[in-house]
Amino acid sequence: MKWKLGMAVLAASVVMAGCSATGGGNQVGAALDVFKAVTVSEAELQAASLQMRAAEDKTEKVASAKNKYGQRLARLTKKHLNEDGLKLNFKVYLSEQVNANASPDGSIRVYSGLMDKMNDQELLAVLGHEIGHVKLGHSLAAMRTAYLASAGRKAAASTGGTGAVLAASEVGALTESFVNSQFSQSQETAADDYGVAFLRRNGYKPSAMASALKKLAALGSKDSSVLDQMFSSHPEPNKRAERLSDVK
Ligand SMILES: [Zn+2]
Repeated sequence: MKWKLGMAVLAASVVMAGCSATGGGNQVGAALDVFKAVTVSEAELQAASLQMRAAEDKTEKVASAKNKYGQRLARLTKKHLNEDGLKLNFKVYLSEQVNANASPDGSIRVYSGLMDKMNDQELLAVLGHEIGHVKLGHSLAAMRTAYLASAGRKAAASTGGTGAVLAASEVGALTESFVNSQFSQSQETAADDYGVAFLRRNGYKPSAMASALKKLAALGSKDSSVLDQMFSSHPEPNKRAERLSDVK
């Protein structure tokens, strides 16, 4: 009984603390959320990103260095661990999904299902596109939105926004929110252009970007479920391929 009473007192004090912080009114609470949106620091977002990525790397089946997919990706990316001022790391997730993604901490993940569909030059084009999302700040912006939408915001707010370690459930909410976030059409176009520039400056085939997009479009029209959320949300790969069809 005593323990239960203790818990009740604790709960009451938490509620009161919450009231004093927000003034007990939704309007003030919303104002604080807006304030938080403005002030969330890049360091805080990067810390959250690293935590999200570490959790996903544990959940997914990561190809080992001996695995044929792991070896292929390592061969293609060893020149790009420091690319355009970014510190990058690359891993393969062993999954039939045709997908790739990047997080703002510079982690780029490629699904083996995508690697099965793309030749080396096309795969490099996709990597260039993903590097573009990091370099151009799209991934960080998506993380900011996801972070503020997920429980992470409250966790950070309760500790003064110093980038506290998130609980597992909060990382889960953050990941879901990040994965479901969609880049805008202009962001996708900019990442495509970055990918072409990446191919060009590294002596690869710039035409591989259009070729990779055509393959994605063909896969998407055959069976939209082949494409995972993040790739299928990329607006109309066919149109994007067409735009770049003259790139040599
Ligand atoms: Zn993209």
